Amino acid sequence: MITQLTDFIWRYHDEMGSTSYLVVGKTRAAMIDCGGAGKQLMSWIRSITDLPVILLLTHAHPDHYGSAAEFDEVWLHEDDISALPVFEEAFSVMGVRPLDRKKLHSFADGHVFDLDGETLIACALKGHTPGSVVFVDEAQRCIFSGDAVGSGDIVLMSVPLAYDLSDYKRSLVAFLERSEPWANYTWHAGHYHQADRGEAEPPNTPFCELIPEMVSLCGALIAG
Ligand SMILES: [Zn+2]
Repeated sequence: MITQLTDFIWRYHDEMGSTSYLVVGKTRAAMIDCGGAGKQLMSWIRSITDLPVILLLTHAHPDHYGSAAEFDEVWLHEDDISALPVFEEAFSVMGVRPLDRKKLHSFADGHVFDLDGETLIACALKGHTPGSVVFVDEAQRCIFSGDAVGSGDIVLMSVPLAYDLSDYKRSLVAFLERSEPWANYTWHAGHYHQADRGEAEPPNTPFCELIPEMVSLCGALIAG
């Protein structure tokens, strides 16, 4: 299912339940995650833009990089690149092709992807994986959050290499301290169906207030 969200952003939701986003600048475009079903995404992207397009991954779970082979340039946080062998073995049952290391580029926290008119800032929000990030789009006032805080339903922390709750809480607090300028931004999560409650109820998407609530929740759980 494809939905145009703004003049510059499209949402792609695949049958595997993964949600990806296309962000189009003046001279470059970026796909944020690329689903898990291994569908032909590039033909859809080319129906929207002829610009060069890079793939930015929020984290290294295969339900977010299923179509990565279609992209010449793939970017992933350095800590999730280190974790790739563990994830590839743990999730091999999903049958997703391993990421091609020759196309893979690493970035660190704070890396800025300039799409010319659109800028995406990679901001660490670790826990779900060691290198989980959100991408902040200040021009469109939105945040692409992958699985870093869940998708309005669960935060999956029972996967290999996920942080324990004390470390996740520290990660949330660090994000909270730097995210004040983005307080009213719209969040776009990595599994939209979990947030979409149907026509009767509005989607339960993540939002900025979720972060301090998550900090409190982690504290309460740690305290028993
Ligand atoms: Zn994930």
